[in-house]
Amino acid sequence: MLPLEKIRNFCIIAHIDHGKSTLADRFLEITNTISGREMTHGQMLDTMDIEQERGITIKLQPVRMNFKYKENEYILNLIDTPGHVDFSYEVSRSLAACEGAILLIDASQGIQAQTLANCYLALENDLEIIPVLNKIDLPSADIEKCKHEIENVLGIDTSDIISVSAKEGTNIEKVLIQVIEKIPAPKAKKGNENKALIFDSVYDSYKGILAYVRVFEGSFKKGDKVLFLNTDAEAEILEVGYFKPKYQPAEILRTGEAGYIVTGLKTLNEARVGDTIWSIRDDEVSKSHIYKRFTPIPLPGYKRVNPVVFAGVFCTYGNDYPLLKNALEKLNLNDSALSFEPEQSGALGHGFRCGFLGLLHMEIVQERLEREYDLDLIFTSPSVSYIVVKIDNTEEKIENPTFFPEPTSILEIKEPWVRLEIITPKDYTGSIMQLVQEERGIHKSMEYIDLTRILLIYEIPLSSIIIDFYDRLKSITSGYASMNYEFLAYREGDLVKLDILVAGDKIEAFSNIIYRGNADYFGRYVVKKLKELLPKQMFEIPIQAAVGTKILARETISAFRKDVTAKLYGGDRSRKDKLLKKQKEGKKRMKTFGKVDIPQRAFLEILKRGES
Ligand code: GDP
Ligand code: MG
Repeated sequence: MLPLEKIRNFCIIAHIDHGKSTLADRFLEITNTISGREMTHGQMLDTMDIEQERGITIKLQPVRMNFKYKENEYILNLIDTPGHVDFSYEVSRSLAACEGAILLIDASQGIQAQTLANCYLALENDLEIIPVLNKIDLPSADIEKCKHEIENVLGIDTSDIISVSAKEGTNIEKVLIQVIEKIPAPKAKKGNENKALIFDSVYDSYKGILAYVRVFEGSFKKGDKVLFLNTDAEAEILEVGYFKPKYQPAEILRTGEAGYIVTGLKTLNEARVGDTIWSIRDDEVSKSHIYKRFTPIPLPGYKRVNPVVFAGVFCTYGNDYPLLKNALEKLNLNDSALSFEPEQSGALGHGFRCGFLGLLHMEIVQERLEREYDLDLIFTSPSVSYIVVKIDNTEEKIENPTFFPEPTSILEIKEPWVRLEIITPKDYTGSIMQLVQEERGIHKSMEYIDLTRILLIYEIPLSSIIIDFYDRLKSITSGYASMNYEFLAYREGDLVKLDILVAGDKIEAFSNIIYRGNADYFGRYVVKKLKELLPKQMFEIPIQAAVGTKILARETISAFRKDVTAKLYGGDRSRKDKLLKKQKEGKKRMKTFGKVDIPQRAFLEILKRGES
């Protein structure tokens, strides 16, 4: 067993695509943790299909490596972090499990928005930061410029910075040597308490709920009776072990080590990320007994993450509903941040109102449902949650526009705001300013990163950036801008509920909470679109957009008698029958609202993401 001073716990932080997974793979190779033969399809640490394809790291996959340096054996625990803003709480907990971080920067890109955000998280957690420049094999790599940016913006010394090519394997060993020399070894804490931080928890179909932990005090072994200090769950440890990167059972997990604990718990909600697993070295005492003698203090930083982006999820084929329910339950086993509640929509039938941490999270869930569970789904346009303050001063959180209270009972409506950071070449500043202004953003500050690039900081309503903001930002900056955001607060907003009426009937599925200033424009857009999409009927159909009782826009579909067989004079009977049958089938795909049939395509066109 190696002493503590031979252990290093570290992670790699980077903006997406700067090469984190590739560098991790090189580490696994040169430490012989994984043989070349096992490295079949590259990127060992990204385990899920979607991650492999899209190159994003969703789930943390820690690994324990052995490395020999100056005749000494070391244990290097690499804790991979998800790089995206939607998962920043998970990132912060995995950082808390480490003493140091490699800050990896693509030398052909320089510092980008998530480089900054992740670096700040690491500094908040008091980590030793080792800057590393990657992709030096690219002709566009500019090492001097990057060094300047790192010193200028992050204030990190770059005199002995290492430049690597993770792709070609250049200078990889030098990085591990800096990890050993610069990152402090974990410290031992005395006392008879045992504490471990959960930095991830997963459901395994054989072992049940596993907590991925970093031990901060004492040790854990099979048979220990433990408490989860924030959720109050109790468990007896069934197994402990390390990541090689497959699970490798061990006798004991000691202070300073990273590994897994098999808990025997049934749901992830009992073993939440950020919670503290605790016990005292006194195996037989009961929980109440323990509390009398100790008030155990949890490790800092625990928080419950709540979904901020919501969307309805429905099946294209109504009878798939039980499959969707089953799929969501299964996904939830490994993704406790995903929330879902049954929702009944007159238009789309039975479905679920789902809550996500952000847009990327929503996309991942959508892809997994469609790919892993082979479902054909309709995701409605995402919205945020609002806080409605009513005249009687009670507050209500509304996650679904359908349940919005009567306008007359509302005193004020609050919506979530975020702090938005954009890094961009300075030539695009004007267009970005305009985009942000259109979306109700407030300019806070502007800072030069170097002579050509700037950091812009705004405050903006979350609802403004959840639909197609990022795509628009990318297109006006030819792909050069990067962005990051974090939640600020709920703020009062001039918001209204926009209803759509077809032939006088309100279609709830089309209702939207919207900024009053945009209601006219959006209302006109929807009614016009519906006019194109709805088939003519035997009577005239008015389509209206309204706020409360006030009509903002109106279109009318004129009456028309549709006889599909009219154009077939004579001809044989079977052709006519065929056409009539087709028409009948088409009718089945429509949902009837009061007097009007609305084809499913119309719902899709209006409700689909990105359509507003
Ligand atoms: P991550 O999102 O930070 O995990 O980035 P990945 O490791 O998935 O790498 C993103 C892309 O950059 C992939 O296409 C890699 O092949 C590529 N890449 C990574 N390291 C290097 C490098 O050193 N040189 C070059 N040319 N490409 C690299
Ligand atoms: Mg990756």
